[in-house]
Amino acid sequence: MSDIATLFTALWGQTEQDLARASVRPRLSKGTVAYRFHFVGLEAGSYEWNAGAPRIQLYRSGNLPDDVERPDLVTQPADDACILAYERGHFISDPIGDRSQSAYASFREGIPLALPQKTAIFEEERRAWHNARLVLKRLGWTDWASFEAMQWRLLHGYSEGLAQPRE
Ligand SMILES: [Zn+2]
Repeated sequence: MSDIATLFTALWGQTEQDLARASVRPRLSKGTVAYRFHFVGLEAGSYEWNAGAPRIQLYRSGNLPDDVERPDLVTQPADDACILAYERGHFISDPIGDRSQSAYASFREGIPLALPQKTAIFEEERRAWHNARLVLKRLGWTDWASFEAMQWRLLHGYSEGLAQPRE
């Protein structure tokens, strides 16, 4: 399996099923992964435990695809596959968020972080990317240049964001 569209579609389907299976109540897999209109800043998507109904959202700051619950194979499938694999990497690493969510919440609210919280976030980011690499490798991914560019951009964004002095 080498074609990006096929790979992205397989990754999307697997991830939907994994999230549905992890849910605390029986749930359809459809809709556990979706595009969402959102400013693309430090994160290009999100993974949330969502009180036992885990979901991944891929952010779009421009036009949303017509069907937000299906992979968009036209606009930027290679980037989207990397982001989806990375958000799934968070799901794999810290599904309930007990390891890192309080640090992320403080960070998003602009509360000054102590070194252990910064470390918790940065380590979680690194684990998510590590898991993403394994997920994509298993699917036969070959475009590692795109993957690494995306990883560098988002990890760098975090290291800059975490280094900012805050009010
Ligand atoms: Zn992240």
